[in-house]
Amino acid sequence: MTTLQQGTIDTFRGQFGGPVFEPADAGYHEARQIWNAMIDRKPALIAQCHSAEDVVAAVNFGRDQSMLVSVKGGGHNIAGNAVCDDGLMIDLSQMKDVEVDVEKQRAFVGPGCTLADFDAAAQVHGLATPLGINSTTGVAGLTLGGGFGWLSRKFGMTVDNLISADMVTADGRQTRASATENPDLFWGTRGGGGNFGIVTRFEFQLHSVGPDLLSGLMVFPFKQARSVLTQFARFTEIMPDELNVWLVIRHAPPLPFLPESVHGEPIVALAICYAGDPEVGEQLIAPLRSFGDAHGEHVGVQPYANWQQAFDPLLADGARNYWKSHNFVKLTDDVIRVALEYGGKLPSPHCEIFIASIGGETGRVAHDAMAYSSRDANYVMNVHGRWETPEEDEHCRQWARAFFNAAKPYASGGAYINFLSHDEADRVEFAYGPAYKRLVEVKQKYDPENLFRVNQNIRPR
Ligand SMILES: Cc1cc2nc3c(=O)[nH]c(=O)nc-3n(C[C@H](O)[C@H](O)[C@H](O)COP(=O)(O)OP(=O)(O)OC[C@H]3O[C@@H](n4cnc5c(N)ncnc54)[C@H](O)[C@@H]3O)c2cc1C
Repeated sequence: MTTLQQGTIDTFRGQFGGPVFEPADAGYHEARQIWNAMIDRKPALIAQCHSAEDVVAAVNFGRDQSMLVSVKGGGHNIAGNAVCDDGLMIDLSQMKDVEVDVEKQRAFVGPGCTLADFDAAAQVHGLATPLGINSTTGVAGLTLGGGFGWLSRKFGMTVDNLISADMVTADGRQTRASATENPDLFWGTRGGGGNFGIVTRFEFQLHSVGPDLLSGLMVFPFKQARSVLTQFARFTEIMPDELNVWLVIRHAPPLPFLPESVHGEPIVALAICYAGDPEVGEQLIAPLRSFGDAHGEHVGVQPYANWQQAFDPLLADGARNYWKSHNFVKLTDDVIRVALEYGGKLPSPHCEIFIASIGGETGRVAHDAMAYSSRDANYVMNVHGRWETPEEDEHCRQWARAFFNAAKPYASGGAYINFLSHDEADRVEFAYGPAYKRLVEVKQKYDPENLFRVNQNIRPR
């Protein structure tokens, strides 16, 4: 427990531009809230930043007072790394500026922006960069861990589109990381998960996207899952980069295009997005309909920004969540067999198995070009344990762990650090893969005292 004199806190409050919350203050509980209700941590202080100068002041205060420091962007991290017990939480969630330079196709994005904030500002101009599939996720944490979504096959990982990052390092210095300024810091920041400093502004490359795209869902009965999964595995190996199809096994939500009798029944769904001419996309997705005898589909041309929000209702905050994840080069018969076995015993109506196709442009970057190194990951499987009550904790966690263990022999090296749960500290080095050794060197240079350690931590030498 950090014991701070009230006078010390008051002096800091006087110098800081935003609010500083102590546990008894209005605003404290709202600020410490994060997406995963399994994590209930109580910082001693929350410094809610409004500017890069506030971030400098908070970093200096946390370091000088020897406090445990956590950093909150969008608060979506499954491991709960935005928030710490008894330490200082540096809350960036109010730093939501987005500036778009249409001519140069660049976006300058504040570290409190959600994907929805970024998409909204860029899509006004028919521009976007690859982000994730749940619009309430923070741009900051997603980017720092790698980042992938519907556009990644065409335009790469989110970090592949990062041009520069303005940062505050552990010594309280403001600096910039880019290909030409502190290139080692830039290398580490693109996948090293916030280990080297706090990003106060991201600069991204934008691309022409939509604003209307062909996208939607096809929903099949779970009893046809073998056929759907097997054909999905073959189809996704040869689909063009513009097309992305993900597969989800879960219980059917009450979607209006599904017959009521299907609601709550086990299903396998294909989620589709075509980042090109919708007429071409229609032809390309036609074969998906023969994967089985669908319960229903809802596929059409709609604003990309709307599709980015399509999964939000199923991924709202406040539920209990425990995730396990593997990367795969290929969905072999063994992977399919295990997915079918555990898909057949989902322990809660909210649990799901998500298989994201990446590949395409994400695999064309050299594995050592930056800290994100899993360039052979054509598929990222997320065993998404999700439920409502503490009584279900053990049962649901056991299911996720058993599935993860059964699939492990078929997984490739590395893992997506943004999908690691709070109890996977022993998997961090494996997750960073071949990048880990160099990451330790960068950490030693920029954060030798490991001030930034409430993350998927890279320990300095
Ligand atoms: C429902 C849901 C859907 C998701 N879908 C996808 C997806 O489609 N694709 C994908 O790639 N990922 C996805 N993710 C994973 C997501 O990328 C991670 O949860 C990510 O950590 C979220 O970032 P955040 O800013 O919201 O999180 P936070 O919890 O705020 O932060 C995450 C980590 O980053 C650090 N951090 C945050 N901001 C900064 C900063 N400015 N500077 C330095 N460090 C910082 C934090 O300290 C923490 O360690 C999803 C997550 C959820 C919960």
